[in-house]
Parts: sequence; C-alpha cells; structure tokens
Amino acid sequence: MSDLEVRVDRDLCVGSGQCLISAADYFGQDIEGYVELLPDAPTADLATNEEVQEAVEKCPSGALSWHRPD
Ligand code: SF4
Repeated sequence: MSDLEVRVDRDLCVGSGQCLISAADYFGQDIEGYVELLPDAPTADLATNEEVQEAVEKCPSGALSWHRPD
C-alpha cells in the first residue's frame, strides 16, 4: 500500500474512538468527539504503519480510507 494516504471523512465519523485506541499517535478527537488527524503525527509512510492500518480496518463507519494522492 505504499504511497497511499489516509483520508479522514469527518462527515462519516460517528465518534466511536476506535481509531484512537488503534493509533493514538495519529488520531485524536475534537471537542465534539469527531476524528481529527493529529497535526504532530509522525510523517513516516502511513500505509506501512500497522497501527494506522488497524485503525482504518476497524473504523466502524468507513470514515477512514486509503487514497492515492494525485
Ligand atoms: S474509528 Fe472511525 S468512526 Fe470512530 S472516531 Fe475514528 S474515524 Fe470516527
């Protein structure tokens, strides 16, 4: 999955917090409980990070997905 980025669709987020459990260094929740990609998250290739992979796979609403940048 190299070169892929994580797309965060806040409109789909239901605030379950599962992504924080899987990858707390990458995902946070705003004051309303919706997901946000942390601005100080490590910049290494997300697609090879097992924690981020788990977060995308376990997100119950499909708010997290992989996409290839243009
Ligand atoms: S796991 Fe998905 S639905 Fe839950 S907070 Fe994270 S992005 Fe939102």
